[in-house]
Amino acid sequence: MRVLWLLPFQLHLKQRAFQMLEDDDLVLLIEDDAFYRMHPFHKKRIAALMSALRHHAETLKALGFNVTFKRGDTTDILAPYSHDEILLIKATDTDVVTWQKNLIKSFSSVTWFDDAQFILSENSVKARLPKRPYKMDPFYRQMRKDFNLLMDGDKPLHGAFSFDKENRKKLPKDITIDPPLDIEPDAMTKDVLAYVDQAFSDHPGETTGFKLPVTHADAKALADHFFTNRLDTFGPYQDALTTRMKDVSHSMISQALNTGLLDPLEIVRDAEKALDDGAPINSVEGFIRQIIGWREYIRGVYLLEMPGYHSVNHYEHTTNLPHYYWDGKTDMRCMAESTTHVIDDGYAHHIQRLMVLGNFANLAGVDPKQVNDWFLEMFVDSHDWVTTPNVMGMALHADGGVMATKPYISSGSYIHKMGDYCDQCSYDVKEKTGPKACPFNALYWNFIERHLETLEKNPRMGIPLSMYKKMDPNKVIALRKQAEWIIENIETL
Ligand SMILES: Cc1cc2nc3c(=O)[nH]c(=O)nc-3n(C[C@H](O)[C@H](O)[C@H](O)COP(=O)(O)OP(=O)(O)OC[C@H]3O[C@@H](n4cnc5c(N)ncnc54)[C@H](O)[C@@H]3O)c2cc1C
Ligand code: SF4
Repeated sequence: MRVLWLLPFQLHLKQRAFQMLEDDDLVLLIEDDAFYRMHPFHKKRIAALMSALRHHAETLKALGFNVTFKRGDTTDILAPYSHDEILLIKATDTDVVTWQKNLIKSFSSVTWFDDAQFILSENSVKARLPKRPYKMDPFYRQMRKDFNLLMDGDKPLHGAFSFDKENRKKLPKDITIDPPLDIEPDAMTKDVLAYVDQAFSDHPGETTGFKLPVTHADAKALADHFFTNRLDTFGPYQDALTTRMKDVSHSMISQALNTGLLDPLEIVRDAEKALDDGAPINSVEGFIRQIIGWREYIRGVYLLEMPGYHSVNHYEHTTNLPHYYWDGKTDMRCMAESTTHVIDDGYAHHIQRLMVLGNFANLAGVDPKQVNDWFLEMFVDSHDWVTTPNVMGMALHADGGVMATKPYISSGSYIHKMGDYCDQCSYDVKEKTGPKACPFNALYWNFIERHLETLEKNPRMGIPLSMYKKMDPNKVIALRKQAEWIIENIETL
């Protein structure tokens, strides 16, 4: 007999392993609390994976598969199948692969498959990133050509591969955007939510307000609602920060993609079709780039850079992650908005993650491992393969530039330019020193001062470095003192 053992984020219906199964073969789904305790994950993340796995058992049964769903210890549940042929989907996260391998090491027959949640196979994505430093743009252009997406023959549709310059607008005051689709939990999800509340009460976050997709149909409804109601505004306001709408015009599909409830290639083909219905090219191209570009690229970088990626610390940062990442209690409005969103929903959109939460941690010199652990534990869409390169490489530049050409650091002026947080903050974004000065400002210039030698080697840092060098020496001293005070008193901001 063949036994296909699936993990809670391997729910793609086009896993190649399904083709190997015959009538007597089995699909095995295991609900093991220890799996959800590998890290202190957010309750909503646990509930989403648990409920999706339970629903998947029903979906596969309805499709005619012979399904066994069991709760308990994975080792005990797998033991009776040690003489059968085990089929496994290889996880991308290295610690999960190690766990999978340990569990089946004494089994007589094991066949591994690539995970269908990615467009490229493991070998193909690695081959497309020939050497360090990796570059996203050529990778993305090649993906566009190879999968014939937004192409006009061998030329990019509308004359450019990227319309990113049109996608940096602040949200106008009078605009309204439909919120993302709320998915009402069904009876099975409600059971899971009650169970998670009781069994994982020591984990962060709450299950209240759970509205995540847990079936393929839910996920498709969420994506379709985005295409109809939110894609047009996705492009221009992709980088916008606002207190008015938590999710601006983002798709909210990352958790569904990373669980296998949505197929990345189908999603981008749907986005391409939306062009025919009048969706603007900057929105469609921007969205497609995130998935065939960034998502696949990030996975490739992870595969090539592990196992060392967890311990990179290029800037030798050692500050502890301050309490507001866990309780949202800070006078910095941008940080309060972003951390509260994460604590409540296990979500923040890309610019909150990169330019608020990541940027602040980097400027304040927080130990990268603590930052990475927080992102891994607190987000509903987290998986080591996607969280770690985004945190270590993109947000913190802790890998020294292996995947991003420059550190994504900014003073308060960028946050001010992109939204309305600063208008409602106790700190003054225009002030650089003094008790009311925006902490991002002094920290930014101090980051440049502290890492001047390293940053001088980076041609993309030319403008801020020349501004720093032209600064009045007294101002430099005042900024340094202010930054030192902030770092010493980081818990009080
Ligand atoms: C510090 C930091 C941590 C992050 N951690 C995660 C994480 O744990 N899990 C995760 O899925 N994404 C992560 N991202 C990437 C990105 O922020 C999220 O994918 C996105 O915010 C999810 O929301 P959305 O579905 O509304 O995305 P949209 O903005 O609507 O984008 C559409 C899709 O594109 C993909 N995508 C976009 N940017 C990236 C990227 N940089 N890397 C990989 N995929 C991308 C996602 O699948 C996303 O669903 C992180 C980014 C940063 C800067
Ligand atoms: S003033 Fe500074 S701390 Fe306050 S919201 Fe703006 S950037 Fe954030």
